Amino acid sequence: MKRFAEISEAIGATTKKLEKVGLLGSYLATLGDEELRAACTFLTGRPFPLSEMRTLNVGGALIVRAVLALAGVEEERLWEAYRRWGDLGGAAEELLAGRTAPEGLTLRQVRGAFEELAALQGEKRKLGRLIALLRALAPGEGKFAVKVMTSDLRIGLKEELVEEAIARAFGAPQGEVEWANMLLGDIGETAVRARQGRLHAVELRLFHPLKFMLASPAPSGAQALADMGGTAIVEDKYDGIRAQVHTRGGEHRIFSRTLDEVTHRFPELSPVAGLGHDVILDGELVAYRAGRALPFAKLQARLGRKAVSPGLLGEVPVVFFAFDLLYLDGELLLREPLRVRKARLAGLTLPAPARLAASDEIQEPERLEALFEACRARGNEGLMLKAPGSVYHPGKRGMGWLKMKRPLATLDVVVTAVEYGHGKRRGVLSDYTFAVRNGERLVNIGKAYSGLTDREIQQLTAYFLSHTIEDQGWRKVVEPTVVLEVAFDAVQRSGRHESGYALRFPRILRVREDKGAEEIDDVETVGRMIDAGRRG
Ligand code: AMP
Repeated sequence: MKRFAEISEAIGATTKKLEKVGLLGSYLATLGDEELRAACTFLTGRPFPLSEMRTLNVGGALIVRAVLALAGVEEERLWEAYRRWGDLGGAAEELLAGRTAPEGLTLRQVRGAFEELAALQGEKRKLGRLIALLRALAPGEGKFAVKVMTSDLRIGLKEELVEEAIARAFGAPQGEVEWANMLLGDIGETAVRARQGRLHAVELRLFHPLKFMLASPAPSGAQALADMGGTAIVEDKYDGIRAQVHTRGGEHRIFSRTLDEVTHRFPELSPVAGLGHDVILDGELVAYRAGRALPFAKLQARLGRKAVSPGLLGEVPVVFFAFDLLYLDGELLLREPLRVRKARLAGLTLPAPARLAASDEIQEPERLEALFEACRARGNEGLMLKAPGSVYHPGKRGMGWLKMKRPLATLDVVVTAVEYGHGKRRGVLSDYTFAVRNGERLVNIGKAYSGLTDREIQQLTAYFLSHTIEDQGWRKVVEPTVVLEVAFDAVQRSGRHESGYALRFPRILRVREDKGAEEIDDVETVGRMIDAGRRG
């Protein structure tokens, strides 16, 4: 672990990509198989390989408690250190100086400790194990253990750079490394196979799910089209659940977005097994009747039932809209451009209730508005814009696919508490808790930290520092004077905030300098939005 920390430190100290890859490549070449597995996994900011379902379940709060227990200091000291370093790993290193008894743990041992932590139930036990781990590490090592646990390495090392370093360390073509990592979902295993010259042996296995490609929010329709080089494939954004359908020799399996098998939950889809081709289809399962999508809540209710009775099948029929083809009769199509995948998909005759998702190639941003309205009229959520030349990146949220949903509405709210940000925003108060009015009182409804410019945040920081009512160190309760306009996708009832509601994906549109706190929206308005926003 000592060398891992040193190398990570050195990688973080240079901004040059080539130097990072060089340092890492030479380091990886010196490791044994098990150490190599752990190092590569940790370097991608994960305690366990991506393909493993295992999660650590150790949150920031637990790490804070462990560090405080070992350091024997007040919480305020930790937040001071946090502000200096901008992350928990750096703060931990500072506070743990001279407070641990390093045992020279290997990466394998650290990985073992993570496995134990994942398996332990109960806060107390987890805390005990975590303290023992941090105590056995030198502060500089603990720093990186914390960074891995919080999945936040911050040494400027993307997964692609780790792949590049693996390629360099073991003389393998980078494309092969990327490919194997994509199919395996395990960069450590990929590295070991690269060293053994066994990358070509990695094959797609039907009936084992691939990760799903994800979409990013579209800035605006016109911008999205421009970003895609002027042409986009447009599809409806269905409001159902994502699914991957595999078929082979008259058999089929369905996998959910979480990569769980859900075949038995959709018995009506069994005709797809008779497609007559071996395929992997990507698409969306939608509750659907008479040419129109049913509200998502219907599908949710169906998923909530244990047994899928004939009555339920009649009440909430499901259609699978296929929008992508990843594999066809022995040929993996992930690296084909979307336009080609679409053409191959269109050549298949999908047995009902599977169907081809309609799509259209457009160049004119003006057409988007009408397409959006038509899609809403069909009961769907919005539009998806996809770059015709894009390849299928499993597990990636790239700019190849953009989603366009209309924000439900906006609210005017007042800031009641502020927190220091992370990374580039450390030192400034950039996370805002905000409230709406309930009679004479203010009740919190959400928290947002995106949408303002650096300059605005700087000005607000100065303002909030001099208008703090209660300084909780890390968090400051402030005078409720700054009014923000926030946009969001939906309102939900929720016990998380005092208002009894929560907003989905809130983002700040602007500071309403023209408004005072007495003019903000109230809970009744929010309540009406929940009714108006109910899907369907
Ligand atoms: P979101 O859940 O808002 O991040 O949007 C991404 C999700 O939209 C995907 O995971 C799919 O389940 C869903 N989706 C609906 N229609 C499409 C489509 N035509 N292409 C891709 N994803 C879609």
